[in-house]
Amino acid sequence: MKDIKCVICSNILREPTQCLAGDLFCFSCISSHLSTSNTCPACSTKLNKNLLSRSLFTERHIRRLNVYCCHHFYYDQFCWKVDEQGCDFSAKLEDIQNHEKECGFKWVACPFGISCDLVRKKDLDEHKKNCNYRPIPCPYCRVEFEAISLVAHEMGCDAVPIACKLCSKFVPKKSLTLHLDKTCPESLTYCPFFCKEKIYRKNMKQHFEEKILEHFEEMNQRQEMERKKLENEFGRELQKKEVELLQLRKGIKKGKKEKKFVWVIDNWNSIENYEESNVFSFGGCKWCLGLYKNGDDEDSRGFISLYLLLEKGPDKGKVVELSGSIKLINFNNLLNNIKKEFETTFPQKASLGWGERRFIPQAQLNEDNGFVFKDRVKVELKLYIKSIIYWV
Ligand SMILES: [Zn+2]
Ligand SMILES: [Zn+2]
Ligand SMILES: [Zn+2]
Ligand SMILES: [Zn+2]
Ligand SMILES: [Zn+2]
Ligand SMILES: [Zn+2]
Ligand SMILES: [Zn+2]
Repeated sequence: MKDIKCVICSNILREPTQCLAGDLFCFSCISSHLSTSNTCPACSTKLNKNLLSRSLFTERHIRRLNVYCCHHFYYDQFCWKVDEQGCDFSAKLEDIQNHEKECGFKWVACPFGISCDLVRKKDLDEHKKNCNYRPIPCPYCRVEFEAISLVAHEMGCDAVPIACKLCSKFVPKKSLTLHLDKTCPESLTYCPFFCKEKIYRKNMKQHFEEKILEHFEEMNQRQEMERKKLENEFGRELQKKEVELLQLRKGIKKGKKEKKFVWVIDNWNSIENYEESNVFSFGGCKWCLGLYKNGDDEDSRGFISLYLLLEKGPDKGKVVELSGSIKLINFNNLLNNIKKEFETTFPQKASLGWGERRFIPQAQLNEDNGFVFKDRVKVELKLYIKSIIYWV
């Protein structure tokens, strides 16, 4: 035996290689030894890679050795021992490796998880049939569980059939309530046609046949009540809508007859004498406001003059009868607003508009009095159409 073992690793030689004195090593063992040393580890003579030679004789010798399959042994406390239940196959070393790959005594892992111990390859099929961790579907809910936990699951499984207390029929546990509510023939239930007393479900068909007229009458009455209720609701809704419509109509009329127009005059101090507002529509006509800072004739020099001017309309043969007011706003105190009311007709006989030549003395219209604020003056106009007269 000694001449087929490596001096370095003590295993059977792989690629036997010798020193000049004939000491034998695995090729890989002596190669790594010589990377840090230049002597033979057995006889201490000088040695390097060039002085090594391959021992073909030993190699042939080893290949022809008769050896046991590795599964003939087991490893225990750092040494190999013969396994009484192990593989008894032996062959030449060069053939034994092929056997070992396929050997039925080889240890393999169970496919059902790491909780299982290793199993001999030849026993695996039998083991899988009885493995504690093999998946088995629950016979009631069909969900798969490991064999070892199936019993515990079944005790809590809500698909396990249990007997109905009333009709003794077996029903899945989770469907029992539904069974009692909807299908159990022995449960008491109300007639869907609003009869007062409860009836066994199994007698319902007979009840329908017996009470067909009563049921018909009841349904008729209910329908009638429902119809009246809807009618009332509809009537109330309609009334509400009519009131809304009336208010809407009034609003439209009012909107047409009244007009408020606000004129803010910017840059008051840079206005030379005359200024005119934007044009606005009202009562089928177009209007604007006009203002003279220093009167519009000799008579009104030193006064502000304010006019309501008719720009366009009314249609030929029409006269608009108006009342209204022009207000000069006091920014300090609303009570000091200056307001002139008027009643007149358009078109005017002799001029384009109605106005006040002497609305307010020019000297009073200043910042201290509150009529000018941030170089602005504000005029508010309110118009109300009293009537429109047609000339025939
Ligand atoms: Zn070795
Ligand atoms: Zn040596
Ligand atoms: Zn074997
Ligand atoms: Zn297993
Ligand atoms: Zn189940
Ligand atoms: Zn039942
Ligand atoms: Zn009934």
